[in-house]
Amino acid sequence: MFIIRLSKIEDDIILSLVGKEIIEFSAQASQNGEFITVTDENINCPDIVQAFNIMTVLNLNITHTMIEGGMYQGKVKAKGILSVPTVKDQEEFTSGRASIEQLVEKLDGPFDAEAFADKGVYDVLIIGGGPAGNSAAIYATRKGLKTGLLAETFGGQVIETVGIENMIGTLYTEGTKLMDQVEEYTKSYDVDIIKSQLATGIEKKELIEVTLANGAVLKSKTAILALGAKWRNINIPGEEEFRNKGVTYCSHFDGPLFEEKNIAVIGGGNSGLEAALDLAGITKHVTVLEFLPELKSDQVLQERAAKTDNLTILKNVATKKFWVKIM
Ligand SMILES: Cc1cc2nc3c(=O)[nH]c(=O)nc-3n(C[C@H](O)[C@H](O)[C@H](O)COP(=O)(O)OP(=O)(O)OC[C@H]3O[C@@H](n4cnc5c(N)ncnc54)[C@H](O)[C@@H]3O)c2cc1C
Repeated sequence: MFIIRLSKIEDDIILSLVGKEIIEFSAQASQNGEFITVTDENINCPDIVQAFNIMTVLNLNITHTMIEGGMYQGKVKAKGILSVPTVKDQEEFTSGRASIEQLVEKLDGPFDAEAFADKGVYDVLIIGGGPAGNSAAIYATRKGLKTGLLAETFGGQVIETVGIENMIGTLYTEGTKLMDQVEEYTKSYDVDIIKSQLATGIEKKELIEVTLANGAVLKSKTAILALGAKWRNINIPGEEEFRNKGVTYCSHFDGPLFEEKNIAVIGGGNSGLEAALDLAGITKHVTVLEFLPELKSDQVLQERAAKTDNLTILKNVATKKFWVKIM
């Protein structure tokens, strides 16, 4: 059964999808359970699968086959998939998280700069669509200011988070669910939300001018940068070459693809140790590589790691290179 909620998809995206020629996609996601619902709250990473579900509902020319990685390991191996979600049409189409807006842009090319020509001048332009950017937008509009919010990935880091347990007044929530609520809330104010657009430059002229990747320029009297944080690359040889082909950044979803393998986690901070502990439950053995003499992670995680038989921590080791060893 499909439950569809289209309210958060902008009209121009829907119109663009409705007119598409025949496209066949095969998306692979490590998802538990037999059914996928478009709004299933327990599913986080496979947003992309949900995006394709929505596309197929909007346009019968678009077909999409979802291969459940956990259930069909043979198919996953045969296709050489080492990271989820991976989407192929004939070739690899995309790998990793992507919003429906980003997928449409990938199909159609960048949105035309002309589409931003009539934005006028904002009182406040916020760059960033995470919790900080949305809070700023709400406060600004409540003061009666003409407010724009520009985000490459609306929702920010929170949508990478499965379980959130430290928000006061809420025992437990999930990242995508929380940011859907935030989006609904921000939209109840008069905020001009511009999604899936990357700011590539900002200059103070008579006004503040923010340049987008497609060449459009947005003008504002003031700007608030709420750019948050991103996964940090370690920039060593092989990282780019083996990205999503053995080098991955999401232990929750890619972990099951390394079942029964010896794996390494680089970094012994909280994220690194949390990932290592999760992975120790799935894989044969996990080695944590920490370049500092001490781990930076919380004591409670270090204690848990010490009690985990198939987890080894190496300190004072800097990772220099990724390469393939043919066994
Ligand atoms: C895996 C994970 C789990 C976490 N779990 C928790 C938790 O359980 N509890 C908790 O309190 N915190 C948690 N955090 C931390 C929390 O998500 C962050 O503290 C929070 O998201 C920061 O909010 P922010 O708005 O400052 O930035 P972000 O959420 O990072 O948002 C930044 C925004 O800026 C946009 N942006 C950046 N550069 C540009 C540009 N050039 N052009 C356009 N847009 C741009 C991004 O697309 C994004 O929309 C977790 C983080 C991660 C990664």
